[in-house]
Amino acid sequence: MQSLWNNEEAATFGTDALGQRVYTSRLLGRNPELVLHGGGNTSVKVTEKDYFGDSVDICYVKGSGWDLATIERAGFAPVRMEALLKMAKLPTMTDEDMVLQQRAAMTNPNAPAASIEAILHAILPFKFVDHSHANAISALTCAKDGEARTKELFGSKVLVLPYVMPGFVLAKQVFEVLQKTDLRKEGIEGIVLMKHGLFTFADDAKASYEKHIELVTKGEEYLAKKASKAPEAFAAANDNQLMELAKLRQLVSKTRGFPQIARLSTSEAALSYGALPNIADCGARGPLTPDHSIRTKRIPVVLGDDHAASVQKFADDYAAYFTKHASGQTMLDAAPRFAVWPGNGIVSFGDTLKDAKIVADIAESTAATVALGERTGGWAPLSEKDIFDIEYWDLEQAKLRKGPARKVHQGKVALVTGCAAGIGFAIAESLAEQGAQVVGLDIDKEIPDIMAKIGAIGIVVNLTEDQPVQDAIDFTVREFGGIDIVVSNAGIFPKNDPLDVMAQTDWDRTLMINLTSHQKLMNKVIPYVKHSVDGSIIFVGSRNFKAPGPGASAYSCSKAALTQLCRVAALELAPWKIRVNIVHPDAVFDTKLWTPEALAKSAARYNMTVEEYKTKNLMKVEIRSKDIGNMVAAMASPLFAKVTGAQIPVDGGNDRVI
Ligand SMILES: [Zn+2]
Repeated sequence: MQSLWNNEEAATFGTDALGQRVYTSRLLGRNPELVLHGGGNTSVKVTEKDYFGDSVDICYVKGSGWDLATIERAGFAPVRMEALLKMAKLPTMTDEDMVLQQRAAMTNPNAPAASIEAILHAILPFKFVDHSHANAISALTCAKDGEARTKELFGSKVLVLPYVMPGFVLAKQVFEVLQKTDLRKEGIEGIVLMKHGLFTFADDAKASYEKHIELVTKGEEYLAKKASKAPEAFAAANDNQLMELAKLRQLVSKTRGFPQIARLSTSEAALSYGALPNIADCGARGPLTPDHSIRTKRIPVVLGDDHAASVQKFADDYAAYFTKHASGQTMLDAAPRFAVWPGNGIVSFGDTLKDAKIVADIAESTAATVALGERTGGWAPLSEKDIFDIEYWDLEQAKLRKGPARKVHQGKVALVTGCAAGIGFAIAESLAEQGAQVVGLDIDKEIPDIMAKIGAIGIVVNLTEDQPVQDAIDFTVREFGGIDIVVSNAGIFPKNDPLDVMAQTDWDRTLMINLTSHQKLMNKVIPYVKHSVDGSIIFVGSRNFKAPGPGASAYSCSKAALTQLCRVAALELAPWKIRVNIVHPDAVFDTKLWTPEALAKSAARYNMTVEEYKTKNLMKVEIRSKDIGNMVAAMASPLFAKVTGAQIPVDGGNDRVI
């Protein structure tokens, strides 16, 4: 492992102690083999003037909720040293009291809550303290005979302490050691916490950081020498992989109680993990470091031939684990957070794409590190009970509870066609706003950029062509694990001509885009939707179906047939509990089809002002794209859980239809 220190870059963070602290914290955070997603913590001790001009000794400790990779000055909590040192002397302290007293001792009450390791940082008698959960330290300390190996490797200059619960208990353990050991006098360079991580310290930011890198590198070199050869990674030929992935996501979502985004990783680490001959055993022993278990649970599910049976067994085992160790807590859901799928890779799950990606990063680290530990004498991580205490530790649960409330479509995957503008765009936007992961298909070349604006993915597709549509569907399943919501919207309003003069090509093109392309989409997407979570298909029709106008035969007929397609789909998919409905908008003028000139011309034809024309419905209200977008999002939501085959007009009321 290389030091990433760079003098020029360091100078841009400021030469003061906190500036340098920010810089080397980011250097730790930049390396996923040291810390991942909020793991690890750092500190610096300074003397400052308080508001009244009095000198006060402060320990700036990493604030909860900040990630080392992106931390700023504001991400450090300024805690009075005096209070932290006093706390270290108490015989016991509850976690709640510790958190409260740390906050009470901050010179800025608006700063983030200090890390739960603040007391430990304070008692280490050096200006800078760096703490990581390095993979190499996990592989070394969780290997069989890890303690003896660690001591042999690092010698007397590194203290090796047995695992205890992080927080006050850990601070107290180190406090007792410091009563007998003078770290400076004895030239101690770091502390290895068994099955947890590494602490280094120095009076200089660079020295503390580089000592960290040096010790981790020593661990890496040892492992490279002692570990037996890695097995060959292999991927099984699996034509059915995407369908199996969708089914797995459905199983896990049901167990979790909410739809989950699922990500399949086929990296070499993921594949070779599944290739371990005893993966079912060593994959189910435990995590690298306790705080990973908050994101990933203690262990993943290792899939056998029958995925449903594997997920069920995981849930049963989880319930048994809870019953065995619980003392009054409420059980969390029993769904796995990642699955080892031998021959295929690792599937990571999350409420959102971001969550699933975090789990995927931890899972990849886990795969590489457990495999390495297993090849270095055998993977022997923390006990079930130790992990339970972390998983159900109130301080950790509080971190998870802080997240925002669940959105209506969170964890769902939506496919929307014809969404570069107008109604289609509004639908994609409403679904994305309500938490869905949206993939938008359109022939417009700008669709990737247009969808990116709403956090969605856009794919340029001609919906009348078979293979590109199939590819877009497969891409969606590979990226997100399945498809729950399909909004079949693409359509055109062709040139208006009476039947006797109409060009055959206008008729054919209209039917192809407004009807046949929808049938083609259904043909390809329904197999996946059958394995969705709360699956829902919505067609965008038109008031024109029930109230046709002269000169619009192709359009009216295409929308009439589309309505019939919807009704048949509703009949066919009811046994799968998939809802199929159609929305009939009318007079939506805020689309790019309608320029102010076109609107004025149409209004004049009816002898109306533009305002009258826009609101020519029973309720005299203007219908906007967003009204349709929100209606479709509602139709895909649990509000419409028991509605199928329905035609919902959004037209302000029309006397020809009512
Ligand atoms: Zn830690």
